[in-house]
Amino acid sequence: MRFLYIMAIALFAAGCGSNSEIASNSAAPGKDARVEKLERVRDSLKPFFEPMEVRDGDWLDTQKEFGETFEEYVRSNPTLPTPKRRKIYIQPIGTFSHEQRNAIKLAAEYMKAFYDLPVELNADRPLGSVPRDKMRKIEYKNNLQIRTAYFLEDVLPKLLEDDAAALIALTNYDLYPGDTWAFVFGQATFKDRVGVWSLYRLADPITRKYDPKLLLTRTIKVATHEVGHMFSMKHCTKYECLMAGTNHVLETDRRPIDNCPECTAKLSWAMNYEPLKRYERLTEFCKKQGWLDEEKLMRDKANAIRGIK
Ligand SMILES: [Zn+2]
Ligand SMILES: [Zn+2]
Repeated sequence: MRFLYIMAIALFAAGCGSNSEIASNSAAPGKDARVEKLERVRDSLKPFFEPMEVRDGDWLDTQKEFGETFEEYVRSNPTLPTPKRRKIYIQPIGTFSHEQRNAIKLAAEYMKAFYDLPVELNADRPLGSVPRDKMRKIEYKNNLQIRTAYFLEDVLPKLLEDDAAALIALTNYDLYPGDTWAFVFGQATFKDRVGVWSLYRLADPITRKYDPKLLLTRTIKVATHEVGHMFSMKHCTKYECLMAGTNHVLETDRRPIDNCPECTAKLSWAMNYEPLKRYERLTEFCKKQGWLDEEKLMRDKANAIRGIK
């Protein structure tokens, strides 16, 4: 059976047109000068990224997607944070181990550095009582799964604050989007600004144990990727990039914890921040984790931007 990583691209695509309220209230920066500057930033970062390689069973092996350039993104009237809606809320739901909770806390820190938006990590909430038609058990594993609609329709809309650019629930429960699916890593509704992602499949499938660094990098990748969709970013097809779709966790592992040059330019334009400052923040984060290779890479990218004439 093919396990698909939905990541809700269809829902996002469907939601784009109906999100004009946010877009019209947007704090979009002036285009031309910034676009030109960011095109130079984009070019300076190219040596640090690998072109997309599609292997058997990968997302792009199963999905037809065409990506989107920085310039196309700018022209697409994307949803942007506004002065009134610029906070990212992370809501843990369920019961978490110490290592899972730590990964969520650090992923929230990373997201703050990555997007340069306020990020609030809410206190844990219990799962609550799930209606019978929104849960099931996969008997051979005795694994309780929760239908994503329970979170997206029943739980999260009630918790959504007015100033939220996005409300992302992270849960330890395994998820499924509908009866014909085996599972899904996560799903979101762009229009409603809410999404849910599971940590369940981030563990080793046999031992159910977590490698601490893998748990953190996978949590970072899943949560950060999804917030990118909240700001109308499409899946990347050009580079091995955080914004590329992924079909399975090993594909996720091959991807960097950073956006490619094209997606970095989009993000810098959308968030209206200095990419150099962002790379300085990401360097600090990696240094704090003791990730020497990642720290060096982030620092090298910052230096490449400093070197732009
Ligand atoms: Zn996605
Ligand atoms: Zn990209």
